[in-house]
Parts: sequence; C-alpha cells; structure tokens
Amino acid sequence: MGLFTNKVERDELKPGDHIYTYRAVFAYSHHGIFVGGCKVVHFKPEQTLKPSTLASSSSASSSVSVSEVNDALEAPCFTYPDCGYKQPKSGVVLSCIDCFLKKGSLYRFEYGVSSSMFLSRVRGGTCTIASSDPVQIVVRRAMHLLQNGFGNYNVFQNNCEDFALYCKTGLLILDKNGVGRSGQASSVLGAPLAALLSSPLTLLIPNPVGVATVTAGMYCMSRYATDIGVRKDVIKVPVEDLALNLGFKTCERRKVKAVDTSVST
Ligand SMILES: [Zn+2]
Repeated sequence: MGLFTNKVERDELKPGDHIYTYRAVFAYSHHGIFVGGCKVVHFKPEQTLKPSTLASSSSASSSVSVSEVNDALEAPCFTYPDCGYKQPKSGVVLSCIDCFLKKGSLYRFEYGVSSSMFLSRVRGGTCTIASSDPVQIVVRRAMHLLQNGFGNYNVFQNNCEDFALYCKTGLLILDKNGVGRSGQASSVLGAPLAALLSSPLTLLIPNPVGVATVTAGMYCMSRYATDIGVRKDVIKVPVEDLALNLGFKTCERRKVKAVDTSVST
C-alpha cells in the first residue's frame, strides 16, 4: 500500500475490511464491508431510484445519471447463487466481489490515520482518524444490518460510506445539521461554518475574514471537521439499537432541511 493510494489486491483482503471502488470515472466511490468468502456487504441507493420518488422531485429526475440507474438495475450474477441477496425493502445487499467492483479497481479505507496523514489526502472519503473495532464485531454488524436494514439511502444522511463507517466503528453522529459522517456527503454539502469553527483547526484560522479567503485548504479542513474520528458529537450505538436511531435520523423533515442547505449555499 503506497502513501498516496489505498489500492489493494484481492488476496490482501481480510474479513472486516472496509473496501471501496470508484464508479462512473471517479465521479463517486462505492463502499462496502468485505466479510470473507469473496463476499461484500454494502448499502445501495435503491430507495431513491423508484419512479414515485423521482416524480416527487420533478427536475431532479433528469439529473440522475445513467450510471446510477445501471447501478440499481443489477445484472444477474452467474458465479454465486446468493449474490445480490437482500431483505425486501432493504438497501443492504450481499454481493460477490466481482459484482461489487464491476471491473473497477479495489481500494481499502484506512482507519486510525494521523491528523497530518488525513489532511494530506487530496480526495475525501479514503481514510479516517477513527480506529476500527475488532474484525469479528465489524463482520457481525454488517451481517446484522444485512438482515435488518440500514434505513433509507440518502446521500446527505445515510450513504454507502456511512454504512461502512458505522460497521467499522459503531459510531453515529448526533448532530441536527444534516451533515453526514462521510467525506462523500461533506464534499457535496460543505461543512457548516459552525462545525468548522468548533474543530481543533480553529487555531490555524486567524479571523473570520481568513475563513472566507481560505479556499484550497477549505475542503480538507471541512472534511477534517466532519471526520468521525474528530467530532465530539458521536455516540457508539450497538447494532441492535440502530433501527431506533436511524428511524429518528431519516424522518422527512430532516431530508427537506438538507436540501434547503444545499440550495442556499
Ligand atoms: Zn456476483
């Protein structure tokens, strides 16, 4: 594993690894938990692609890319009969690694990295300062969620990266601002200034004008401020209690709020 890439070979994988691949020519990354035996448990945006959902957000329907639709319409797998297994209405899916990667490269998400290492990464969502729980616990969480679901997919609140992060750390964020845990979500929304200012990096910013003029470093710092290993507003949630917490997190009012934020910025 090099310093600037997390790319790994399949034979290097261990059960409990958080892996990801890039889809649609690096437009976004897709994450999952490797559970051994060539299988990956991951969370897919199935719920957001139903025609009824698209109709309710009229103009948004045209912005759904072909690749996203292709993702939802999974080709049948001839290698493993249990590939594509999921519970009805759940976005958590068991896939073989071939179907997960779709010929993309394989990367491993790093846990327990140092702050300087974290900030050196150009692209968000490849590592975190938080440390991973023991392998058995990670795999058990993934398998539990495969049977019980992980709420509705929402790019701002609950995406595939959040799913993998939760399996690895058991951490959920308690905030009310509609900011997800992952680099993927914070790169879409941008971190609210409050989150940025409450981070330890405030010391590096001389004054409010400085905040406005920081551009190149802003993205890295907003990611740092929202990294699950840095935030103070995270709680450890046992996987058995997750449904309760997600039920609260994914209510309609909060989704609307997340959209409002993106429009106003
Ligand atoms: Zn397959």
